Amino acid sequence: MNMQQMDPKTLRELVALRRDLHEHPEIGFEEHRTSEIVATRLAAAGIEVTRGFGGTGVVGTLRKGSGNRAILLRADMDALAMTETTGLPYASKTTGRMHACGHDGHTTMLLGAAEQLVHEDFSGTVHFIFQPAEEGLGGAAKMIEDGLLAEFPVDAAYGLHNAPGMELGQVAAVKGPQLACSDRWRVTFKGEGTHGAKPQEGREPMTAAGLFLAQLNSIVARELNPLKPAVVSACALRAGNFAALNVIPDDVEIGGTARCYDPDVRDQIEAAIARIANGIAAAGRVECDVVYARGAAAVINAGAPTEIARRAVINGLGQDMLVTERDPITPGDDFSEFSSRVPGCYVHLGMGEMRPAGQHHNTNYDFNDACIPAGVGFWCSLVKEELR
Ligand SMILES: [Zn+2]
Ligand SMILES: [Zn+2]
Repeated sequence: MNMQQMDPKTLRELVALRRDLHEHPEIGFEEHRTSEIVATRLAAAGIEVTRGFGGTGVVGTLRKGSGNRAILLRADMDALAMTETTGLPYASKTTGRMHACGHDGHTTMLLGAAEQLVHEDFSGTVHFIFQPAEEGLGGAAKMIEDGLLAEFPVDAAYGLHNAPGMELGQVAAVKGPQLACSDRWRVTFKGEGTHGAKPQEGREPMTAAGLFLAQLNSIVARELNPLKPAVVSACALRAGNFAALNVIPDDVEIGGTARCYDPDVRDQIEAAIARIANGIAAAGRVECDVVYARGAAAVINAGAPTEIARRAVINGLGQDMLVTERDPITPGDDFSEFSSRVPGCYVHLGMGEMRPAGQHHNTNYDFNDACIPAGVGFWCSLVKEELR
């Protein structure tokens, strides 16, 4: 099946499903309605359904032939806590909830592929993973913690994300780093508050915080290998009170994010933040508290599954739909929870021309239904390449 071959009735029906999911967005771990729809449709198609991994997660299992190879295909189901401004007829019905990353489209395409694959030939096992809480809440980790991979061991994992602005229906299957790791850090300098006119009587944390912020930028500029990309940003600062400008506060809190692709660089950043904070605290006679919270690891595509994904694009969608080179991007995706345990490939699906300000996580974003046939076609073709 390819883009040309999806029959209009199936496409209309999948578009209706996508728009229904769009109208009813649910944020991480609250995807009750969405997972109910997914589970009901999988079961109706004759696919074995297992629920409960990661709370609202749904697994559909389809076995065919005598092959003992097993793979997982993953779609995320969650929306974001933001208010939609598209004005579309099927815009979110809930203020403060919006499918602004296209996970409504991901869910629809994987479900469409599962329903289609029931009628196709392959030899082996496919687990269709409908994951909760991709947007920073750790849904993939929760599914694995609940025993997903123990109950359903797989030889390879595949993920797909829509890409606004990339040519409609093209699929980028690129080796190596795709998405960065996504870590959070927080540093608290603790001194001893005092009168603003008598700093000598206390131990003031403000100067330490200022020096720390200045020194923070030297991690990327002066410590890391310039050929290995990384970003360290301070994004929040809390101290003192503008209604009491004669008071030096007890403490200052600073927090931010760190992104990179290389595990060694990640270790270096974590160590450098702690070292700089502790050094500056010691020099300034204050204490400090450093918390570095690792989020999802970077998504790194392995060679073998990327080759298979490429063949799937060529055979399912056509050679001209395949993109083999694309720069990595700095957001994260917890698909790495799967692809760091088994060989994995995460592809980007072109959605064509972007709506005005229609980038991911913008209030005017919408998934483009015109890429549904390519997404479904890719998944089906991939299963046939993988499980021959
Ligand atoms: Zn997102
Ligand atoms: Zn997303």
